[in-house]
Amino acid sequence: LSNKLQDTFKKLKGKGKLSEKDIKEATREIKIALLEADVNFKVVKDFVKKINERSIGSEVLQSLTPGQQVIKIVNDELTNLMGSANSQLSFNSKGITSIMLVGLQGAGKTTTAGKLANLIKSQGKKVLLVACDIYRPAAIKQLQVLGEQIDVSVFSLGNSTSPVSIVKSAMKHAKENYFDIVIVDTAGRLHIDEELMNELKYIKDEISPTEILLNVDAMTGQDAVTVAESFDEKLDITGIILTKLDGDTRGGAALSITSVTGKHIKFVGVGEKITDLESFHPDRMASRILGMGDVLSLIEKAQSNFDEDKAMELQEKFRKQQFTLEDFKEQMQQMKSMGSFSDILEMIPGANKKALQGVDVSDKELGKSEAIINSMTKKERQNPEIINASRRKRIAAGSGTRVQDVNKLLKGFEQSKKMMKQFSGMSNKKLGKMKFP
Ligand code: GDP
Ligand code: MG
Repeated sequence: LSNKLQDTFKKLKGKGKLSEKDIKEATREIKIALLEADVNFKVVKDFVKKINERSIGSEVLQSLTPGQQVIKIVNDELTNLMGSANSQLSFNSKGITSIMLVGLQGAGKTTTAGKLANLIKSQGKKVLLVACDIYRPAAIKQLQVLGEQIDVSVFSLGNSTSPVSIVKSAMKHAKENYFDIVIVDTAGRLHIDEELMNELKYIKDEISPTEILLNVDAMTGQDAVTVAESFDEKLDITGIILTKLDGDTRGGAALSITSVTGKHIKFVGVGEKITDLESFHPDRMASRILGMGDVLSLIEKAQSNFDEDKAMELQEKFRKQQFTLEDFKEQMQQMKSMGSFSDILEMIPGANKKALQGVDVSDKELGKSEAIINSMTKKERQNPEIINASRRKRIAAGSGTRVQDVNKLLKGFEQSKKMMKQFSGMSNKKLGKMKFP
């Protein structure tokens, strides 16, 4: 299918302006692509209309071919539809923050409860998991096992107390024991039914959750829309967690759900492991839906943030093996404006993700790195290999860091050198000319 799209766009090549007919042809292909990716029909119709309006008469960017220009508009609009990249959880500034997870049976609520608890705990908050699925055999046990695994307490009153009483007691327990966050795992059904919805509504009324997050299985395609609509109608959800995105689904459900409910996806589940929870990136999802990988957003990021001349200069240095720590410092700053290394790596198909693990370009790390490099002599910056143990000690003391930090930086520098070799063939012109798969 992507090939078909590619063919369509190829035809548009070389035109300074796209004609109405060109666009119509292209959008017809896009329409099929979206429908095949399980996007709701009505959503597709509105969407294609918008693309037509935006594309007709639009100027072609110098660096991109017209076909890519259309893809870019499509990508932009898809991204818009799925909301801003702001997928942060809301936290109460005062008192306990409560998060209620809802969804059909098997959607991934219990698993996600564990994942979320793990994530929030790692942010230094005290988390309590609450077992409210009293129907499914072993549901409580499942949550307890997860809790144990991540060292988070699980509140349960067995399966003979009503869910409303359970959350009530849980909130009291949380207050008395100074928990910051309460995550409520609720029951699901195979299909939506009145009884379940009422039970969830009672829980909601009892605790007025800060967040009500609907878990939706990405593999369920079109059905997901109906499910999301019903849940939202009854409970007025605050966000969506799309699970099982690690499957081979195109993720069209993401688009339909957000445009039908108007609620944003906050996280995506990408596997069964406790760490397999990621923040949602609308732009990446847009590319995934269109089946082009994330190359487009990489190009965009690279073009807007990477100073071309600087990149050229750096590339030259790599070739001549003159890349120094001074350059490294500069490069880190550039990379920072492009997002994290790992973000960028994720977008390059086939990139060696392992190579850069541990290279951190957060503000804090960057500040530290700068201090370290500033504490080096000019000679050391140009010939890092002379930095032996005693020099490392001196540099650490001078920069107010530890020898481990100096070691880490030097290691990062070496990794970066390797990495840039991979990258160097790609910067500038090639990046702009990169083909979509
Ligand atoms: P619940 O009924 O909504 O509580 O769903 P569970 O949390 O019990 O999950 C149902 C099944 O889906 C389990 O086998 C989970 O391991 C699996 N699961 C949940 N989230 C994901 C995910 O993001 N990816 C994959 N591959 N499996 C998942
Ligand atoms: Mg469950």
